[in-house]
Amino acid sequence: MVRDPLGEDRGAGWSGSSGSSLRAGRLLDSPPVNAVTHAVFGAGALAGASLVLGVEPALYAYPVAGVAALVPDLDNPRSKLGNGLSPMRSPLLNALTRPLSWALRAVSFGLFKTVGHRTLTHSLLGLAAFAALAWLLWRAVPGPGYGLFVALVAGYASHLAADSLNTPGVPLLWPVGGTARLWPGGIRSGGVAELVVAVIAVAVAGYLAYLVHPVLQDQVDGVLSAALYRESLTPPL
Ligand SMILES: [Zn+2]
Repeated sequence: MVRDPLGEDRGAGWSGSSGSSLRAGRLLDSPPVNAVTHAVFGAGALAGASLVLGVEPALYAYPVAGVAALVPDLDNPRSKLGNGLSPMRSPLLNALTRPLSWALRAVSFGLFKTVGHRTLTHSLLGLAAFAALAWLLWRAVPGPGYGLFVALVAGYASHLAADSLNTPGVPLLWPVGGTARLWPGGIRSGGVAELVVAVIAVAVAGYLAYLVHPVLQDQVDGVLSAALYRESLTPPL
């Protein structure tokens, strides 16, 4: 029988239960990661953090938070970022981004072979290290630097929150040990439960963005007012 060189387990992130899933060099026995779920959590976390901090993020900060929400799964070579950037239609863009793809794959393989999946990058230590890198970026980029810092850290932290709803939980205190779960027993990924969580996350992220952006409030309130006005003009049956 030909065995997969990365182990027989597949998937990452929002993953099902597996007793030995947190050992170095092995992946979880579960469906593939749902990167969209993580990205939605990242966008919602940015809106929530902005609400708490009393700032209004620029629109470009949302995709930044969405990508940052995928970073912890770099420790999985099959994850969205761990496998390098997806091929694009433009040969020029492919050529320009190829070094970044190689770097992502190299980092992913290194993490996978040394600490393993769901260890360092899924811990508070990993979050602190990432926040330190984001802080350096903030200092290096005056102006939008603070917004980028908030987006990156909120996005990364949201990944840990999302995975802690999942069955295997996250080793927040790695390397000391212990697994954190926000939901008793955890929610198994790849099924209806994950879809429900994703839909709720979209609704919460949308509401938080509504609260953070006055422009969005004006738009939504205008649409609702117009709809109510039309309703009031409709003669009763
Ligand atoms: Zn993960």
